[in-house]
Amino acid sequence: MRICRYDKTRIGLVEGDRIHDVTAVADRLGRFGYPLPRHDLLIARLGELRPDLEALARREAGVPIASVELESPVANPGKVIAAPVNYKKHFDEAAADPVTFPTVHVRSIAESGVFLKASSSVVGAAEGVRRRFPDRRTDHEVELAVIIGETCGFVPESSALSVVAGYCIGLDMTLRGSEDRSFRKSPDTYTVLGPWLVTPDELGDPSALDMRLAVNGVVRQQANTRDLIFDIPRLISLASSFYTLEPGDVILTGTPEGVGEVVAGDLISATIDGIGVLETRVH
Ligand code: MN
Repeated sequence: MRICRYDKTRIGLVEGDRIHDVTAVADRLGRFGYPLPRHDLLIARLGELRPDLEALARREAGVPIASVELESPVANPGKVIAAPVNYKKHFDEAAADPVTFPTVHVRSIAESGVFLKASSSVVGAAEGVRRRFPDRRTDHEVELAVIIGETCGFVPESSALSVVAGYCIGLDMTLRGSEDRSFRKSPDTYTVLGPWLVTPDELGDPSALDMRLAVNGVVRQQANTRDLIFDIPRLISLASSFYTLEPGDVILTGTPEGVGEVVAGDLISATIDGIGVLETRVH
């Protein structure tokens, strides 16, 4: 199943090149009073609501994907967890350029652990990236994004994939500089998620997916998730050993080599096999 959010408030199932409106399922999410739950209500019940979602989708003809504005597939990510330098060749390119990548940030993930991005940085493909400081370098980083489906802690690697609700493409947009990662990577629009969530049964094995990123049609990043230093189960296990993971939490698994600057007007096109293509504009 491929599920998306679009046109601000709509929920859709993606089939082929069409989106079927299943927004009515939101009525099934229950009534909540203050204080609201911290997690994402739809992601938390995705498995249980799946028959309803599929039945709703069958009832209507759908609209072409190209005719809608895609939002982040997760409406309310409680936290966005991200892996620093998690591909060997990206480590090498960073280590070779201490002007762009201050040495203090270029350490192995075993030393650094993971970091957090502000959830207010999350947008969908339609909104695009707004460069926060035009006089500083803002880079693209394409990453496989893992969306957590249940509340869990101290998850062993052996069962880690069972807590995953789905996968999408993530752009971990990054302001280069000396500040802490969580600060530089958290401006509004610096986390682009999309184009939709693909459930694990539809994606299959996430440990050998080709990915690439092009800017204005020129390929800059090309890699395979088999080259991750800490693989997905290890990232889930590590993160959940420090804090509880909740439905809708996102783990950005790290970017491969080839990161580079984007400027206003650029079209970023990120592809991960089995998921699709995320196209977004830089403003
Ligand atoms: Mn990154």
